[in-house]
Amino acid sequence: MNLEKNFKFKKKYGQNFLKSTYIIDQIIKESNIDKETLVIEIGPGSGALTKMMSPLAKNIISFEIDESLEETLNNNLKNLNNVDIIFKDFLEADIKKEIDNYEYKKLYVVANLPYYITTPIINKIIESKIGIDKMVIMVQKEVGDRFCAKPNCKEYGSITVYLNYYFNIRKIIDVPRTCFIPEPNVDSVVIEMTKKDQNYNVNKELLFKLIKDAFRFKRKNLNNNLKKYYPGNIKEIFDELNISLTKRAEELSLDDYINITNKLNNIIK
Ligand code: SAM
Repeated sequence: MNLEKNFKFKKKYGQNFLKSTYIIDQIIKESNIDKETLVIEIGPGSGALTKMMSPLAKNIISFEIDESLEETLNNNLKNLNNVDIIFKDFLEADIKKEIDNYEYKKLYVVANLPYYITTPIINKIIESKIGIDKMVIMVQKEVGDRFCAKPNCKEYGSITVYLNYYFNIRKIIDVPRTCFIPEPNVDSVVIEMTKKDQNYNVNKELLFKLIKDAFRFKRKNLNNNLKKYYPGNIKEIFDELNISLTKRAEELSLDDYINITNKLNNIIK
């Protein structure tokens, strides 16, 4: 992808542009974008991924914080009339309003994310309730491993359980640092997060609070981390569910947390 001669990569914006066409092809292939899909991209950079998605998608709406990329993007994406670049900080943007102008059947996020704000971006997408069907995103490897982790792994944490509430998550491909320009200090991974069909019948606020508390002190067991739920019937709840309070948070599945929350909720009511 061509960059303007005097363009300087900005570390503060997490600017590591993909130079591997193989990885771009993999992202495109796994995304299954079609002519019913509106794609939201965060950080088009020089437009390498954007350009490849354009012939497949209905529309692409790309948020880029760095206005000095305007000329580059105009050149690299010229004549692509289904691509709209919005020069805004994605975290400040009113995404609901922006996408209201489009007609589509499927809504995907496909992006090589700026890593310094991976979690805020995902949280914003969840909280803005825009009805995302799927995300195919490049993230830092350690972060991706945490998102995809299963119970009893060291990578399994509160963020894993939280994201698994909303999405089925799987790893698509590991991406070495050599695939980027400039080369970052970390390796990467492309993951897919597909919206779950089922709606769990649970008090969400209580569930997320319980998960956070359960994982608060990594080395402590549930008995210690959930002390503040005493005096209550937490012991009884755990007995009824056949879960030992001597377990640690990472040994419990999302379903376990949902079952505990539902029982707690009945007591609080
Ligand atoms: N998509 C390009 C690629 O794969 O080559 C660039 C990816 S680069 C890892 C991240 C991009 O996100 C950069 O273009 C950066 O300027 C942009 N960016 C950083 N912070 C942003 C924000 N808050 N809102 C929108 N874009 C942002």
